Amino acid sequence: MLRKACKEACVLGKGILMRMELPKKVKHIISKLEEKGYEAYAVGGCVRDTILGRVPLDWDITTSAKPLEIKGIFPVTLDTGLQHGTVTVMIEKEGYEVTTFRLDGAYSDGRHPDEVSFTSSLVEDLKRRDFTINAMAYSDKTGLVDEFSGMEDLKNKTVRSVGRAEERFTEDALRMLRAIRFAGQLGFSIEAETFEAVKKLSENIARVSAERIAKELEKLILSDGCEKIKLIYEAGIFAVIAPEIDEFFKTKPERVNKAIKAMENAVYHTKKGLHRIRTVLFFEELGENKACELLKSLKSDNDTINTVRHLIPLLGREVECSELEMRRTVNLCGHKAMPLLLEARRAKGLRDVTALYEDIVKKGCCTDISGLKVNGNDLLEAGVPKGVMIGKTLNRLLEMVIENPEFNTREKLLSEVRENEE
Ligand code: ATP
Ligand code: MG
Repeated sequence: MLRKACKEACVLGKGILMRMELPKKVKHIISKLEEKGYEAYAVGGCVRDTILGRVPLDWDITTSAKPLEIKGIFPVTLDTGLQHGTVTVMIEKEGYEVTTFRLDGAYSDGRHPDEVSFTSSLVEDLKRRDFTINAMAYSDKTGLVDEFSGMEDLKNKTVRSVGRAEERFTEDALRMLRAIRFAGQLGFSIEAETFEAVKKLSENIARVSAERIAKELEKLILSDGCEKIKLIYEAGIFAVIAPEIDEFFKTKPERVNKAIKAMENAVYHTKKGLHRIRTVLFFEELGENKACELLKSLKSDNDTINTVRHLIPLLGREVECSELEMRRTVNLCGHKAMPLLLEARRAKGLRDVTALYEDIVKKGCCTDISGLKVNGNDLLEAGVPKGVMIGKTLNRLLEMVIENPEFNTREKLLSEVRENEE
């Protein structure tokens, strides 16, 4: 919902008169730059999110001051990307990216501008930005600068390229995935011409590094509108970056829809966990081997890949109708991944067996070797020969204890071992 203050905005000269509450430190940076005679504004995602009543991830500032001039004004700065005009200004250990108004030169590789040059025009800087909703600037002094009708698009919940979409996606192909990601995060639609351009130019995604693609995919998967992952298929982007997924959409549309529904259902208290659960659900149909190969090629992080390898086979198990089955599952899954498995199952609409699991935790049931009341040294003393037999025996005891938790006493386990050794 747009904030009331924004609805009441009225146009005044270059800026739209509107109050936006800027954080104290952002205000400080802007006013310091203004004091020295430069223009300075909050810009991009932070303006968009504030108007939408969302909490911005970070605050970017754009200014007419050149990097060395910015460095001259603030006592502590970091040279983040001087050649691109970005200086990080540190205010009480918090960093804010301050970037000189910039023009991007030609893009011959479809990824990066060949060169950037500085400009004294805010509007030129806004023009190089990807979408109208990301191309607004604000300062208390000027109000909202909205040259490309970003406000209108925010009201209509639309992601629209600044200028001609085809041109903008030809410059930088990552913008196609960004469009879909913003649609997912904000619950917006992609304007028709913009989406047509994505479809037309989808093959250009091959020019973008897997790392940059992975970041966008992760943000989309984590978003409330993660079902927009369908648009990646519809645009023809999966055909380029993950042909197996493209095939899956083509040949098993109902199963894809089910997987996406499950992704939407999933909730979790950490972003990392939610990302893993949704990734497992989306890739489950491919089987763990294919899924992991694909995730590797998509430059997913190792922890996510390992979770997927571990959980996909467990998700397929018909389990947990009894405490014994649950103890076996915990043994295979491990306590660390159990909450993820339980949530993935719940999201898929399988029986919620959280209570059964919690019961096992409460009872302190032994489900791995470290929970046995004997260890390797005890077995050595009891006469088990050094070497592989120790591990084998511990596993045999664990299997017995999983079957029958009462068996997990030092006495019973040792007498079982001694009997076996005789
Ligand atoms: P978020 O930080 O929530 O992911 P954001 O809009 O702040 O979203 P950033 O990647 O932080 O996105 O970029 C900040 C701003 O820089 C954007 O709002 C946009 O104006 C501009 N921008 C970022 N990436 C591109 C790009 N590939 N092409 C054009 N402009 C871009
Ligand atoms: Mg940002």
